[in-house]
Amino acid sequence: METHARVVVIGGGVVGCSILFHLAKHGWKDVVLLERSQLTSGSSWHAAGLIHTLSSDPNISRLQGYTIRLYQELEELTGQSTGLHSTGGVYLASTPERLDYLKQERSKARYMGLDQEFVSLDELKDLNPLINPAHYLGALYDPLDGYVDPSGVTMAYARAARHYGARYYLNTPVIETLQQSDGSWKVVTRGGTIHTDMIVNAAGLWAREVGQLAGICLPVQPMEHHYLVTETIPEIVEHGREVVTGIDYEANIYYRQEHQGLVLGTYEPVATPWKVEGTPLDFGHELLPDDLDRVADRLALAFERMPALKKAGIKSVINGPFTFGPDGNPMIGPVPGLKNYWAAVGVMAGFCQAGGVGLCLAEWMIEGEPSIDVWAMDIARFGEFATFGYGTIKAAENYERRFLMSFPNEELPAMRRQKTTSLYDRLVERGAVMGATFGLEHALWFANSRKEASEEPTFRRSNAFPHVARESKAVREAVGVIEIANYSKHEFRGSGARDYLDRVLAGRLPLPGQLRLSPMLTARGKLYGDLTVACLEEDEYWVFGSGSAQEMHRRWFELQLHGNGVEYRNGSDELHGIAIAGPRSRTLLSRICRFDVSNESLGFMTILRTEVAGVPALLARISFSGELGYEIYCAPHFQMKLFESIESAGADLGLELYGARTLMSLRLEKNWGVWGLDYRPDFTAAEAGLDRFIDFGKSAGFIGAEAARTEQASGPARKLITLQVHTDDVDCAGDEAVFHRKKCVGFVTSGGFAHHSGMSLAMAYVPAELCREAQDFEVEILGERKPAKMLVEPAYDPNGTRMRS
Ligand SMILES: Cc1cc2nc3c(=O)[nH]c(=O)nc-3n(C[C@H](O)[C@H](O)[C@H](O)COP(=O)(O)OP(=O)(O)OC[C@H]3O[C@@H](n4cnc5c(N)ncnc54)[C@H](O)[C@@H]3O)c2cc1C
Repeated sequence: METHARVVVIGGGVVGCSILFHLAKHGWKDVVLLERSQLTSGSSWHAAGLIHTLSSDPNISRLQGYTIRLYQELEELTGQSTGLHSTGGVYLASTPERLDYLKQERSKARYMGLDQEFVSLDELKDLNPLINPAHYLGALYDPLDGYVDPSGVTMAYARAARHYGARYYLNTPVIETLQQSDGSWKVVTRGGTIHTDMIVNAAGLWAREVGQLAGICLPVQPMEHHYLVTETIPEIVEHGREVVTGIDYEANIYYRQEHQGLVLGTYEPVATPWKVEGTPLDFGHELLPDDLDRVADRLALAFERMPALKKAGIKSVINGPFTFGPDGNPMIGPVPGLKNYWAAVGVMAGFCQAGGVGLCLAEWMIEGEPSIDVWAMDIARFGEFATFGYGTIKAAENYERRFLMSFPNEELPAMRRQKTTSLYDRLVERGAVMGATFGLEHALWFANSRKEASEEPTFRRSNAFPHVARESKAVREAVGVIEIANYSKHEFRGSGARDYLDRVLAGRLPLPGQLRLSPMLTARGKLYGDLTVACLEEDEYWVFGSGSAQEMHRRWFELQLHGNGVEYRNGSDELHGIAIAGPRSRTLLSRICRFDVSNESLGFMTILRTEVAGVPALLARISFSGELGYEIYCAPHFQMKLFESIESAGADLGLELYGARTLMSLRLEKNWGVWGLDYRPDFTAAEAGLDRFIDFGKSAGFIGAEAARTEQASGPARKLITLQVHTDDVDCAGDEAVFHRKKCVGFVTSGGFAHHSGMSLAMAYVPAELCREAQDFEVEILGERKPAKMLVEPAYDPNGTRMRS
């Protein structure tokens, strides 16, 4: 075995082999995979092998499409069969809500270039003669779906990797991973040690154990999972061609043909986490004892829906473990806080996803960034809150909900209150309906009382609607109060801080006492942050951004540090805060400050370190509501005092508490996008309209300058616009297809009802040539195309006079 390699991939399951293949194919030949036993020795060998494109995240769907299309290429390259059966597949709905869900999925598929279409119930019967169509309201068909041979696929990746020059070693367990002072690693095995620039943990069922060799917690959890294989079914023989694969959500079953019978699997209603304490190092090509009682009720439903199954004998029952992450999506990318250590773990649908995971990881390692936004898979979407205990419970929740529907307004119940602020009980007492972002609880909206504080999950307008209207009115006409502890706060200090930020951020930096907005770009000019920069002193800066992106941004900031006189820290948990907004917010502030807060003394986009309501605070004159407003940040232990003072000082001013839903409604009528929806690495600053904050004149340059300048010269290909959508009881939630003259031309990134303006609004990316004047579009919501008109200026206060007043 060699003593040096550029990359060592740990784990020869389908994920590790795909990464090895993609690295070698993209030009890194000096890459090695180490496998404890034989290839496929984890969960890969006993998978059911179904492949499909549907996923909650559009980019994961896209990558699943990529994975499936890759199988033919792998076969041609290696001669190794992947056992690919392109049967096509159906997603079945037996409730109106599920049908709505499938309509939303089809809308998403339209703009992603996936070819999904509804088939009639007669066509369904023809695609699968076992089905009793009377159970269904609709069926969405995807021709890409089918199934593969899991071992064949893994071997094909490994052979293809070898074809491009990579190497792999079997029976070589990694027993130590030791970080060196220069950031490189020593990977120790009994057969020798490899010195490597980078490690990839693709150890599947053992991801936790391999992570712990490097001292990190990867919150994934193996879960037991059953499927069974039937004997020959005469109806399938008679059919004469393969039946399509299927997912029947309400029965909670999936199936595919196997010889002349079926493979039938289900996600049990009560999950069984496997080896919570850790995966045994000697677990081999083994299955777990089956327990059909656990799946009996699901099988009964399957028999109802496919009556021929009742007579079919069962040839074998498989119960095997595979790992889930806390939200069911893979966890990939550089691990924040650890140099040159990459994760590719928690891949629960390896045969649909490993190709995309391998591609993105290879691009990220070799080129510095993946070609599409991988946020839904980025390991940085979890932080220290995602402990092993958190991982086990959330993974179980996700397993149980695998075929249950999640609505756009739904908050999942497991592991709530993992992180709370000092105001939590107080807000709940006031009727707050809470949500959790990056583990931290925050108010979504306020009901009239604690007793009424709950929300029905729905695709349509929910019972929150009148409450969000009330809160919006208070902000626009009086004063509203919102907790903003969940924003991220990054602190930069030192003599080199200004130069550092000038290079890392694309915008002009503020002077002491000022705030400025700035996009942050990747080298390719893609958006990597939409940030507010505060300069307290020449050598002290705070950068505020999306709370959920804090570890992603921390990783990026740390990557750019080269010992240049800058001290950086993610201070998000050390500064909590409260914002007040509305025409009466200045009056309120004047009652709790000992100094002049007039527009002349405390102008728009200024910040100072001071005392507010008697507690030490950072006071910033800025607001995301488009109204006169202030953000007040303080240490968590001062926040309750600040809150109580604000509440009593505003009692006679019409003060109302408001939550994230109202903030989202208010910002929509200002045409302001938000990080993670409208602004993300899929888009450039010019596409998002954030190029107006770029300082193209910076003499020292900034990351992404070249790409941004090129785009400035040519103009962006598409643009983010705001649409007024004509609709009654439903608003856009994101991912709806946008049509122009009957052709799908774009997609919605966020939407909702703007209560003050009385309009349903949506932000959408469409081709730039369609934005030169106000055009008519259509937006497909729950299967219906609704007329939509582009707004040429924000629906509320287009000149921004209210917030500057
Ligand atoms: C019953 C069942 C049905 C399934 N059905 C489907 C399906 O229909 N479709 C689908 O897409 N997915 C399905 N899956 C999921 C799929 O099997 C997994 O997503 C996939 O196998 C994950 O692959 P992996 O490479 O991440 O992990 P693994 O397959 O677990 O591979 C990890 C590898 O790392 C090696 N390793 C561990 N520790 C070390 C070490 N210290 N040193 C060196 N090597 C090490 C292991 O030996 C192993 O070979 C199913 C899973 C099960 C259990």
